[in-house]
Amino acid sequence: MIPGARLIILGRQGAGKGTQCVRLSRHYVVPHVSTGDMLRAAVREKTELGVTAKLVMDAGGLVGDDIMIGLVDERLRHADATTRGYILDGFPRTVAQARALDGLVEERPLHCCVDLVVPREVVLARILARRVCRDCGTNYTVTGAERQPWICEVCGGDIMQRDDDTPDAVNRRLDLYEEQTSPLIEFYGQDGRLAQVDGVGHPDEVFQRLTSTIDGRR
Ligand SMILES: [Zn+2]
Repeated sequence: MIPGARLIILGRQGAGKGTQCVRLSRHYVVPHVSTGDMLRAAVREKTELGVTAKLVMDAGGLVGDDIMIGLVDERLRHADATTRGYILDGFPRTVAQARALDGLVEERPLHCCVDLVVPREVVLARILARRVCRDCGTNYTVTGAERQPWICEVCGGDIMQRDDDTPDAVNRRLDLYEEQTSPLIEFYGQDGRLAQVDGVGHPDEVFQRLTSTIDGRR
């Protein structure tokens, strides 16, 4: 069996991080630990943590380091993570979280922090071309060849742009990402744990680049 891996994945929204995380998780047979998914599940299931997190998020705040670290700590104690490893997605978001993570995984340390690099103007164009069916949620991409009105192939519903995919909103999210991430890039860069991988190109090509980088770090 192929060896496991212990990774953090960073990348702008629209960089293809979600797709690559799924592929890496299958390839290395390690869990894809997405803190966004975990928080949404906790809120949905109304766990104690979920109720606390929802209060914070409804007030427009970011869920605090303590909650996030507790959530990740609990997940990394499961057998799949202790035996095979982990792909962390959405965590750490702060240097305090990154330091705490080093403590949590002291016995099975990180192989590397992968930064999937796609230039801002490329992701901006990708996000602005996204469309979604209002009724069934199927995703589409504008090609310019659509017939108007644009109707969903699955259910016949109207295809539209998400409210939060306006240029202003996307630029705000990208600014926030850069603000949050640059200290982490520095943190993992200073001791050689950062691996920057070019994320532009066909997903198969990007996947090849990722695995050859990761295999070189283990
Ligand atoms: Zn539809």
